[in-house]
Amino acid sequence: MTMPIVTLKPREEIRIRRGHPWIYDNEIASVAGGPAPGDEVRAQDSRGRLLGYGFFNPVSKIRVRIFSHTSERADGEFFACGGISRPAVGGGRLFSPPHTLFFGAFGGAPDSAPGLIVDLFRGEPAAPGCWLSTQFLSLGVARRKDTIVAALQAVLAPDGIAERSDAPVLAREGIPASQGILAGTVPETIFMRENGATFAVDIAGGQKTGWFLDQRANRAAAARYARGREVLDIFCNQGGFGILCAKAGAAAVTAVDSSADALAAASRNAALNGVADRYATAEANAFDYLRELERSGRKFGLVVLDPPAFAKSRSAVEPAYRGYKEVNVRAMRLTERGGILVTCSCSHWFDAARFDAMIADAAFDCGRRYRIVEERSQDLDHPIVSGYDESRYLKCRIIELD
Ligand code: SAH
Repeated sequence: MTMPIVTLKPREEIRIRRGHPWIYDNEIASVAGGPAPGDEVRAQDSRGRLLGYGFFNPVSKIRVRIFSHTSERADGEFFACGGISRPAVGGGRLFSPPHTLFFGAFGGAPDSAPGLIVDLFRGEPAAPGCWLSTQFLSLGVARRKDTIVAALQAVLAPDGIAERSDAPVLAREGIPASQGILAGTVPETIFMRENGATFAVDIAGGQKTGWFLDQRANRAAAARYARGREVLDIFCNQGGFGILCAKAGAAAVTAVDSSADALAAASRNAALNGVADRYATAEANAFDYLRELERSGRKFGLVVLDPPAFAKSRSAVEPAYRGYKEVNVRAMRLTERGGILVTCSCSHWFDAARFDAMIADAAFDCGRRYRIVEERSQDLDHPIVSGYDESRYLKCRIIELD
């Protein structure tokens, strides 16, 4: 069977040659060979030179997602032999679009499984086990779900595999959301170790894939400034930052989130780590709560600010700027002189230059000066890949305020 061919318009290949994995509908001159939805296609430039092999999706604006520059087929062998290897670390993200450290990277050109996210969780020694949390967010990988699950089982032998394909991108790919257990069993709660603490995680029911792995190293970094300080953890989710701060010797922690479920998990995690007596939660809209705190005159020695993505598209960057700035101004006002602010943004549309400018504006607005102590990004298992700017998304700045 000859492979269908997608030919790009002249000069549209440059971004792809630089490593970007997406070919948009308006960049395509012709589609030959009648590919079915999700089929492998050969992508080539206007002069017929190979760009790579990708998954075809006739309903998505991202018409082709490149998965390899050398393998024509994304079959069982591709997923099992070509790629999945045991991660060097005890747990973490194994796959993230488009390329990962663990997928084919050793063989030269990085193969990938575009739209596939796999996070590996290991139970702590007292409740051992190995579970995978997966998301199939493109038609190409969704159609090959059984093949991919079999490969994951063969290589990693997990006790269970959960699926959490529930992101907005699914609608644009024309595939339904899908959740459940794909293989084995997954307990409602698993207990895992991170940065020396124990956390109970609901892999099947929690937000995103259950736990924000990308902030792991930043949580450890923040905790290094916590000793003896009053800590405010804003947008705390299941408590990661604040609980590590408490374990590191914080005087007290106040953790804020709008989700009652997240806070229940946070309180439970505080108890699991023996810090419940220094850990208080507040269920509130962060913007309102910070205003109230300001009125009360209370100050904190360490404030952590980890909001959800305010900019979810290019057009949302300006309103996002106002949202980030407001919450940063308020957080700075609550930070005592000589105190530390750990401020983050996980929106790739809101790039580092904008983020740093926003911090400078926020400080200027409240008449504060600051020193940047650490400039940080996402943890290493969420790789930043050349040619694919979307992979550089998490910013974390640790600043000391005068
Ligand atoms: N810091 C966390 C991750 C934060 S994710 C960690 O390290 O794991 C963002 C969190 O913000 C989510 O838990 C969400 O429930 C919460 N959130 C979203 N909008 C909010 C709002 N307006 N006020 C308070 N919390 C909000």
